[in-house]
Amino acid sequence: MTHDALLAAVLADPRDDTRRLALADLLDETDQPARAAFIRAQVAVARHGDANMACERSGRKLSHTGEPGPLFESRCRCRPCGLARSEYRASCRHVTEWERVAIEPYLKEYADAVIASITGRDVRGQWPVMRDQFSSRPRVRFRRGFVDRVTLTSESFRTHGAALFARNPVEAFVLPDAELRVEIDPPGDGHDWQAYYFGPPPRRYVDGGYLGMNVWERREDVVPGVIRELGMDQARAA
Ligand SMILES: [Zn+2]
Repeated sequence: MTHDALLAAVLADPRDDTRRLALADLLDETDQPARAAFIRAQVAVARHGDANMACERSGRKLSHTGEPGPLFESRCRCRPCGLARSEYRASCRHVTEWERVAIEPYLKEYADAVIASITGRDVRGQWPVMRDQFSSRPRVRFRRGFVDRVTLTSESFRTHGAALFARNPVEAFVLPDAELRVEIDPPGDGHDWQAYYFGPPPRRYVDGGYLGMNVWERREDVVPGVIRELGMDQARAA
């Protein structure tokens, strides 16, 4: 099978790790062993289970979410530390390049977002971006070897969403300017969305004197509007 055929298989069923591993095998044969190793390392972490990714000696929770720079206890030989170490070694030299490939369609916007995350404002100074709990996280997250979450503006999503979905098994995306995180469940089937609103806290919390900036209120009612307004149906269908 060709690379494109194997990638299409991954996109068609993002939950089937064997498809990802089949693509890794092909990458090995086509002089991309680093990319192959990264897919295998992240699949191994996922199979071990998020809940189990804590050092068995120190009890410390390990950063295992596919974000760059996972933590592990140095010299520790426990299995979770070993998995996290493998993931780190497989990713550290190349992950920036893979990010670039994954988000090529909106690379300019991505660069702007990085600048915004440093300065606290977007390039037009229109909205502060340091207010949400994702602001310190990478704008692209890899899990199980592929991009599974992106942060982009609503405008970028309208323009480039279709291209992103066509190339990456994206399972969630964050639209900071719309104050929404949207999750796709189950990934790949395209019509079951959950949107989480992270704007101003609900009134009842304000009344209670509780400034819940990190309180996420599930807003099922906004989903149809989000899909319609941002053209997600078209993006998925493309
Ligand atoms: Zn350990």
